[in-house]
Amino acid sequence: MVELSGVLVVIETSAGDARDASLEALTAARELTGGGSLTALVVGSGIEAVAGAIQADRVLIADAPELERYTADGYSKAIEAAIESVNPKLVLLGGTTSGRDLGPYLSAKAGANCLSDCVALRWDDDTLVGTRPVYQGKLLSDVSYVPESTAFAVVRGGTFEAAEAGQPGSVESLPVEFSAGDLRVELTDVTIPPAGAVDLEGAETIVAGGRGLGSQENFLLVEQLAEALGGAVGATRAVTDLGWRPHYEQIGQTGKTVKPKLYFAVGISGAVQHLVGMQGAETVVAINRDPDAPIFKLAQIGVVGDLNELLPALISEIQAARG
Ligand SMILES: Cc1cc2nc3c(=O)[nH]c(=O)nc-3n(C[C@H](O)[C@H](O)[C@H](O)COP(=O)(O)OP(=O)(O)OC[C@H]3O[C@@H](n4cnc5c(N)ncnc54)[C@H](O)[C@@H]3O)c2cc1C
Repeated sequence: MVELSGVLVVIETSAGDARDASLEALTAARELTGGGSLTALVVGSGIEAVAGAIQADRVLIADAPELERYTADGYSKAIEAAIESVNPKLVLLGGTTSGRDLGPYLSAKAGANCLSDCVALRWDDDTLVGTRPVYQGKLLSDVSYVPESTAFAVVRGGTFEAAEAGQPGSVESLPVEFSAGDLRVELTDVTIPPAGAVDLEGAETIVAGGRGLGSQENFLLVEQLAEALGGAVGATRAVTDLGWRPHYEQIGQTGKTVKPKLYFAVGISGAVQHLVGMQGAETVVAINRDPDAPIFKLAQIGVVGDLNELLPALISEIQAARG
């Protein structure tokens, strides 16, 4: 039997950059090598510059046009090739939509287990222990197993600090050849946030709006406040379901997990499914006309009032203060 050692972290790329969630997984991985080495697999197309800035003992580059966009078939082929070359004890993925898709997929193919949505991970001797939030983040539960082959885990986004750029120990190309029929899914369309839009998952300031805005048009107030603060716009599921805002702006259980320094919740009731996506924010400011709205339990600053009056006043004060 081949001896397994160290950790392999999958670094996803987007528009020529490593994705934050992957860099967070890289941070988590450092604690888990158990004396073995830390290998990063950078996946994408035209990604040499990204690979050169990943702080790992060894960096493998799977660079192919077929890997420009995520498909489970394409990425799993690259990762399986890396596993064969590295024989890691553990493969760690970031909590992106694709990472959450790949972890269970790869582990099922390998007949192994995957610990998903982990906010902490450790080895207790040969037992891999993952800590996961349950009941909408009200409790933490430890899940564990003793892997008999390479184990898989997915780290929850926004939990670990993203690893800083640095010099890799070595950089090698990992050839991945694709033949007809390898990719069973054809990607026909990708919706990309408009240029200039601030990335929600990496944003330090977020202004999120809820159904209390009353209409799609009224979201202009949220956009203006976000612009005045140099922040990103977020939304609740009620809003994205109504079609007022695109789905990539949704925050919460079935949307994005964010961890900004400042989070404005405007016209948002504070349902648990929303809170799990933003409870890592350092400071929450809530504006709601209902003094009993659950969001006030989480907010450090709560303003009870009508957003239609408060937001225009706040926006012009901030604009005036910023000159
Ligand atoms: C399986 C599942 C997954 C889900 N996933 C998510 C998720 O990922 N993200 C998410 O957000 N939700 C999610 N939800 C939905 C969630 O349960 C709530 O329905 C949703 O978050 C409510 O959105 P809201 O706060 O915008 O709307 P509401 O709950 O309708 O709240 C609107 C708020 O606006 C206030 N308001 C109204 N008018 C004004 C005014 N003029 N001035 C000031 N305040 C005003 C009201 O007092 C109220 O508190 C999920 C639900 C389920 C079942």
